[in-house]
Parts: sequence; structure tokens; C-alpha cells
Amino acid sequence: EGRDVPFDPEQLRKIQSHPCFSEKACSRFGRMHLPVAPKCNIQCNYCIRKYDCVNETRPGVSSDVLTPQQAIERASEMFKKYPYIKVVGVAGPGEPLYNPETFETLKLIKKKYPNKILCISTNGLLLPDKIEELTEIGISNLTITINAIDPKIGKEIYSYIKYNDKEYRGQEAAEILIEKQLSGLEKAMKTDMIIKVNTVLIPTVNENHIKDIAKKIHEKGVYLQNITPLIPQYKLKDIDPPTREQKKKIQEECSEYVRQMKHCRQCRSDAVGKLGEDKSCQ
Ligand code: SF4
Ligand code: SF4
Repeated sequence: EGRDVPFDPEQLRKIQSHPCFSEKACSRFGRMHLPVAPKCNIQCNYCIRKYDCVNETRPGVSSDVLTPQQAIERASEMFKKYPYIKVVGVAGPGEPLYNPETFETLKLIKKKYPNKILCISTNGLLLPDKIEELTEIGISNLTITINAIDPKIGKEIYSYIKYNDKEYRGQEAAEILIEKQLSGLEKAMKTDMIIKVNTVLIPTVNENHIKDIAKKIHEKGVYLQNITPLIPQYKLKDIDPPTREQKKKIQEECSEYVRQMKHCRQCRSDAVGKLGEDKSCQ
């Protein structure tokens, strides 16, 4: 069942009011994604960059990017219309931590709406560098996508990473990314954040490795894992996606180590409302 350390009441509120962290919250509370982060600092082999970040959201659609000011205006409008929206997050369309607009937007939201829960998803490369800023802003719910903890497997999943203006490829890229993800995770665990790990299930590449990831994140104290099926595109377009049974079996195996999220809807990076009942906000 994952984490053994009890949560404090404020952390519990942030789990129980977040539809992604608590299935029970789904019917009562909503979330809003603000698409303010277009650029990305890595290349996943299953991602076509003209769409939303596939690590947290659904591929095949691209959200219009908003400026922080436009995002605040949209948020204000949506909060009026749908007061049950408790959570505001940035999940793309690229990598949130690689775009200064993410921080600007969430700071503005916190100032204007201090009671909203702030949420972010990341590929983890910049997590160790940005963790303090995230804590200062008051981000409480964090999702990191970790698809491999072994660089030999990771090199099949990532083409390159860009870190401090330098590009890395192959196994070296995977080594750096994994090291940053795990050290970022450790730093995040020392804060009050509630952490979810997303893992894309890629048959023939990481299917037999996901249990190792579950074990590792359990050791680190992660609250929840969300295993999402590969949607084959770009360099991994010829891989058959996992069947429902395959996914279920792996989720069951991993649930020995860490609680599993089974209700993810792979929402767009501009999704608004309750999970599964998205409102158009265009
Ligand atoms: Fe695409 Fe997201 Fe991977 Fe960047 S982190 S390449 S946007 S899936
Ligand atoms: Fe929640 Fe999954 Fe949608 Fe993210 S993509 S908001 S985790 S349901």
C-alpha cells in the first residue's frame, strides 16, 4: 500500500479534494489545467511534439497556449461557472518546469485564490533545481513521469535531453534524466508535497521493469503510481499497445508496493471540470 508515514490533516485535505489523487473526490471536485507551458527539454520516443505532453495528458490533441494573464482570466471565469473546481494545475502542452510562465501563472493563482490546490506534472529533469521555487509558490500535488530507472532501458525511451544548454543522447541522456528524477523525488519527499509517479507501459521495452520502478518509488515513500498505456506514435509507433489485461496484471503486481491510480482519463492540457465530464473552455 505504499507510504507508511501518516499524512497531516492539511495533506489529507489535498489528497481528498484532488480528483486524481482520490477516486472518491472525482464526483465532487474538479480540476483545471492551464496550458501555459509549450516548450520541452527532452524528447520521449512516443511523443509528437505538436500535441500535448503525453506523459500526463492525452496525445492527438493540442491545446492553445495561453499567456499567464490569459490563464488567470480563464481561471476566474471557470471558477465562477464551476465552483467545484478545487485544483489548478499545469500539465503542458510541453514540460511545465522548463517554461517560466508556469511559475508566473501559479504564483498569480495562489495570490488571487489562496484556497485552490496547486498541482504540476513534470518529466523530472529540472525537479532538483526547481523544488525550492515550487515549495515557495505552494505547489502541493506533484506528478513525476518515471518510465525507467535503468538507463539501458531508458535509452530506448528517450532520444535526447537538454540540460544547461547542452544536449545529451543515448545512455548518457537516460542516466542524467533518471538521476535527476530520483534526486528530485527525494527532495520533494522532504517537503509536504503529495507525490504521484506516472509510468507509461511500453510493451517489449519496460513492461518487465515497471515492478522495479514500483519497488523503488515505494522505498522513497511515493503515495501513488499511475500506469498509463502506450499510445504508439513517433519512434515507438510499431509497438503494439498493451491490452487491458496486460495493464491490469502489471497494476496488480505493482500494487504490492505502491497504491495504484486506476481512474486516470489522460486529460488534455487545457481540461476543465470533473474527470470524464470536461467542459469546453475555448
Ligand atoms: Fe513529449 Fe512530454 Fe516527453 Fe516532452 S516530456 S517529449 S512533451 S511526452
Ligand atoms: Fe488526473 Fe490523469 Fe487527468 Fe492528470 S491526466 S488530470 S492524473 S485524470
